[in-house]
Amino acid sequence: VTFWLCLIKDFETRPSVTHLLEHPFIKQAHGKDMALSQQLSTLIHEQQDDCHLTSPHLGFELTTSWLYSNRHERINTRKTLIIESSPDDDLVNLEVLDEETIIKHLSKRYDELQIYTYVGDILIALNPFQNLSIYSPQFSKLYHGAKRADNPPHIFATADAAYQGMVTFCKDQCIIISGESGAGKTESAHLIVQHLTFLGKANNRTLREKILQVNPLVEAFGNACTAINDNSSRFGKYLEMKFTPTGAVMGAKISEYLLEKSRVIKQATGEKNFHIFYYIYAGLYHQEKLKNYRLPDKKPPRYIENQHGKVMQDITSSELYKEQFNAIQDCFRIIGFTDQEVNSVYRILCAILNTGNIEFTAITSQHQTDKSEVPNAEALGNTAALLCIGPEELQEALTSHCVVTRGETIIRTNTVDKATDVRDAMSKALYGRLFSWIVNRINALLQPDLNIWLVYKSGMNVGILDIFGFENFKRNSFEQLCINIANEQIQFYFNQHIFALEQMEYQREGVDASLVEYEDNRPILDMFLQKPMGLLSLLDEESRFPQATDQTLVDKFEDNLRYKYFWRPKRVELCFGIQHYAGKVLYSVNGFLEKNRDTLPADVVVVLRTSENKLLQQLFSSPLTKTGNTATTEGNDAHNNPCLVLFAPPPSPRFVSSMCWQYSLMDLLSKMVVGQPHFVRCIKPNDDRQALRFCKERVTAQLRYTGILETVNIRRQGYSHRVLFEEFVNRYYYLAFRAHQMPNTSKENAVAILERAKLENWVLGKTKVFLKYYHVEQLNLLLREV
Ligand code: ATP
Ligand code: MG
Repeated sequence: VTFWLCLIKDFETRPSVTHLLEHPFIKQAHGKDMALSQQLSTLIHEQQDDCHLTSPHLGFELTTSWLYSNRHERINTRKTLIIESSPDDDLVNLEVLDEETIIKHLSKRYDELQIYTYVGDILIALNPFQNLSIYSPQFSKLYHGAKRADNPPHIFATADAAYQGMVTFCKDQCIIISGESGAGKTESAHLIVQHLTFLGKANNRTLREKILQVNPLVEAFGNACTAINDNSSRFGKYLEMKFTPTGAVMGAKISEYLLEKSRVIKQATGEKNFHIFYYIYAGLYHQEKLKNYRLPDKKPPRYIENQHGKVMQDITSSELYKEQFNAIQDCFRIIGFTDQEVNSVYRILCAILNTGNIEFTAITSQHQTDKSEVPNAEALGNTAALLCIGPEELQEALTSHCVVTRGETIIRTNTVDKATDVRDAMSKALYGRLFSWIVNRINALLQPDLNIWLVYKSGMNVGILDIFGFENFKRNSFEQLCINIANEQIQFYFNQHIFALEQMEYQREGVDASLVEYEDNRPILDMFLQKPMGLLSLLDEESRFPQATDQTLVDKFEDNLRYKYFWRPKRVELCFGIQHYAGKVLYSVNGFLEKNRDTLPADVVVVLRTSENKLLQQLFSSPLTKTGNTATTEGNDAHNNPCLVLFAPPPSPRFVSSMCWQYSLMDLLSKMVVGQPHFVRCIKPNDDRQALRFCKERVTAQLRYTGILETVNIRRQGYSHRVLFEEFVNRYYYLAFRAHQMPNTSKENAVAILERAKLENWVLGKTKVFLKYYHVEQLNLLLREV
């Protein structure tokens, strides 16, 4: 398909044989297919204008006359396209079902650039690591409302299924994208938004454009270059697109989950800070505005000066950063931020960069040895000026702190180390709160228009979940632990949906379905989340002791965690290992306590609140306890949901990181449980980001830990849709009865409908009809025909 569409598209613009021969697909086939190679060399040799090529390898036959005859026709009409979907598109249809066969099958498809494959209603997406021309509006048209079997698997088909599900059943939908870091989750999320905006176009072009700018904007602030992925998400994102009951898009809302704030102050070897810092520095440099924002122009600020020899020129000469800065300015403008707001955002970003350059030295006098001062006032002055606060007050807040004892306030001085920590805590807090503010502001600007809201009085959502993927670096710290726990929870949610809830329902309804064994990761989650002896509780407990050290922490873990998933390596100091669902990870406890405490001294907050900058006042006007999470928990039914028994919120979050972590994930999952889930499993074919390289071992590992083989089994044998008789009859009675008949919502009438619709392989439970994943589409198509 890709092949044909690319050729037709290319031929539309440059209809020549020479151009055709340069086409990457032809080139690709060239190397692999002797027969084709011979034909091509004859063509090149003879410089013919007309050609006829066949490639058994890619399974095509092509004539230029065919291309000429088709190039004036619209690409999206299915008649002109030879789009062959095949039974091979779904792993459920494979005759032999073992790991070896599945891998071979996926590998063959990947060679042919068929990166998508179904497992029943679940989509597997292999990262192509190259741009494919299968995401144009023509493709959106092709997949719009199409029968699943008519086209090859595609991310648009999943987006379409969610949209159709929402419109047909008036039910919220959510698309859960999972996979390890660099597997393609964020790209998939973009493509889903693209297709959904296409579907819900209505007549509001501006809104569509706004929604398309949301991802690039928040990702400039929340993504960064890591050792695994140049555009790695450092926060979890749940984007809800809001539609009218007729399916027109009317707004969007984004929720962010625990941004990795520590990146602002320090990055691991070979990694970078959040994109936005480079964009703004390069952008202002080119606009000759560095001075206006009080940024040094000889040497980049310390927070973005890569610790390993990156120089000024790398940042300022990058065309990409410059262009990205312009793009971000456009995003702000299109979404509707005022110039004043954008200016305030820039000032805060530049203040953070200046904060990183504030240095401290020790003052040693006869009486005091633990006092620090700021030797060079420039960076401090710049920060204060950009934040509209007094430099003296700022210096005081950084180098001293108030203690209240017996009703008396005493001022204590900070050592150099302490002052440095306070400085970095301020940078993290500024960035974290700025990020949350941007998200909230986007939400306000993309709220459904009141007039539309008044007309419809209700709406429906399709939510898209894209979080940071599972990570395993050479050196893993607190951030990786948090990220990996989040992924454990997503995996648990997947298992619950695909296996556990399904099996529970069979038993309850007396339906016989052979149970499929699967790897349950609940014991690992217990190890992390249980109270009072789970890893996170132990961490919190230790964080409360001021004298606690890395050593006491890791000893505490070892003494209390009696699980096979935990071990303490003998030879590596201050480390512990976890056997995650996705593999073994070794964590270094260095800095765990500090990162978990994540405290910002009240003295700093007091000074920041005195700012004359409205935005800054706003950022620090709320209480300090719950940072980084803008989601609300209203209407939360988590406590009653069997999926979420593990995720009850802690009674009073004390340490922001770990508590907030559980809390926000719980909130996020409870939101998703409300909607009908659709799963996209992203797979990384190799670790070198190489196109067309299928590393069997890596793919096998991912298929194993995500339980794809078991999923194939349960999708083949199972009944993924279970509908109450009442609901079923109400929804489908048109298929067997006349509109005015209003039949009883009985089991018998449900059977009458199923028989009239000529469905096969369904079963009846005590209260529900049990349908295979493909039945829903069949029924919907029949409904549309009526
Ligand atoms: P993380 O967990 O680190 O955020 P991720 O799963 O979100 O990782 P992406 O950022 O979506 O990974 O993808 C990594 C890179 O892979 C992209 O920058 C892009 O180069 C490539 N890629 C992924 N999907 C596609 C696609 N469908 N077409 C072309 N390139 C892709
Ligand atoms: Mg991502």
